Amino acid sequence: MTDLFDLEHIWHPYTSMLNPLPTFKVKRAYGATIELEDGRTLVDGMSSWWCAIHGYNHPELNQAVSDQLQNMAHIMFGGLTHEPAIELGKLLLKITPPGLDKIFYADSGSVAVEVALKMAVQYWAALNKPEKTNFITTRSGYHGDTWNAMSVCDPVTGMHQIFGTSLPNRIFVSAPQSRFDGEWNPQDIQQLKQQIEQHHHSIAALIIEPIVQGAGGMRFYHPEYLRQAKALCEQYNLLLIFDEIATGFGRTGKMFAWEHAQVEPDIMCMGKGLTGGYMTLSATLTSKQVAETISRGEAGVFMHGPTFMANPLACAVALRSTQLLVEQDWQANIQRIEKILVEQLTDLAQLDHVADVRVLGAIGVVELTSNVDMKTLQQQFVQRGIWVRPFGKLVYVMPPYVITDDELNYLLMHLIEVVKEMPGVNANVLA
Ligand code: PMP
Repeated sequence: MTDLFDLEHIWHPYTSMLNPLPTFKVKRAYGATIELEDGRTLVDGMSSWWCAIHGYNHPELNQAVSDQLQNMAHIMFGGLTHEPAIELGKLLLKITPPGLDKIFYADSGSVAVEVALKMAVQYWAALNKPEKTNFITTRSGYHGDTWNAMSVCDPVTGMHQIFGTSLPNRIFVSAPQSRFDGEWNPQDIQQLKQQIEQHHHSIAALIIEPIVQGAGGMRFYHPEYLRQAKALCEQYNLLLIFDEIATGFGRTGKMFAWEHAQVEPDIMCMGKGLTGGYMTLSATLTSKQVAETISRGEAGVFMHGPTFMANPLACAVALRSTQLLVEQDWQANIQRIEKILVEQLTDLAQLDHVADVRVLGAIGVVELTSNVDMKTLQQQFVQRGIWVRPFGKLVYVMPPYVITDDELNYLLMHLIEVVKEMPGVNANVLA
């Protein structure tokens, strides 16, 4: 099954070149179906790492790409502009916090985070506070794999140990503990408060994933945390950066997760679902005030400008994908998925080896009591005709929004079977 050239020469994400995990060769994908080279089909539970929100091979998204291709695939953004970037920008400003007004298009989620961090540093430099260069964040966060994005990822599950002192030293506080749907515990904010009080002179911004901490643990926390964090940022002169790369475009049941708390950030990053998973594009948005302050600084400009900035193909498909989303009753659709996830997954919490089950919007998480054997589990899922890629203690799904009830029930039925049959588990518990 595994392609030999691929096995010997091509690096996959987070994979050893001595002992690579098996890969499954994909021939095509459509809707919520992935078709393998050998003819087997899998119901997709991952949306290709959470981005293919409308599913694969969508006729209207295909059309948007091929229409744009007739005009130009790419054109430099320095000194030139184009319709897809402009129209996409107009639509993004309609669906993002009202205080955000300026858009920087970048290449990937990680780069959007780098851009956000750079904006914050340039902002304070322009205000004659060059000492404000550090960042504060919570544990269990994830913001990407590039250098500075990596520096604000959880120091334990992230890459801090490997990269050691080559990584800038950030200020970390405990992850919020109050659950999204539980009681707010005022203790939750204390560490953030103490650290900000102590270090605010050197801190440019607080960076956080609003409501859902994704790759750092798939944790859903209480909106009050964001309200109090915002108040602290205002009190102590910190910018607030929301990383909405995983939460954006309806995934949590709101268009963007800030809406759960009604707290506006100063800078916001988006990516993943932006192009409906067609190609890589991200955006970092900020307020007029932040953007104009940066522009009044010594440099007079914001210091970033990648080759593929605002790639027209990516902007055209992002525009169509976002239109598709807002044109439909997407909230009702996410609620449909959420209801099935709750109905199907909740009982798993009774198993001894399941620590927690949680669902928010189109995200369903089963947290186990110990780490999974990804290789074995992956194969079991594929044998049953579903595509689910667990990590750490987490078996989770984030299906494409086009998934039908039947497909979703099939996906969950097989996921549940695999979880129940894990070694050492008493399957009768849920009989
Ligand atoms: N921030 C968050 C919250 C993410 O979930 C991710 C990707 N998992 C990133 C940043 C990095 O995005 P990319 O992989 O596109 O660089």
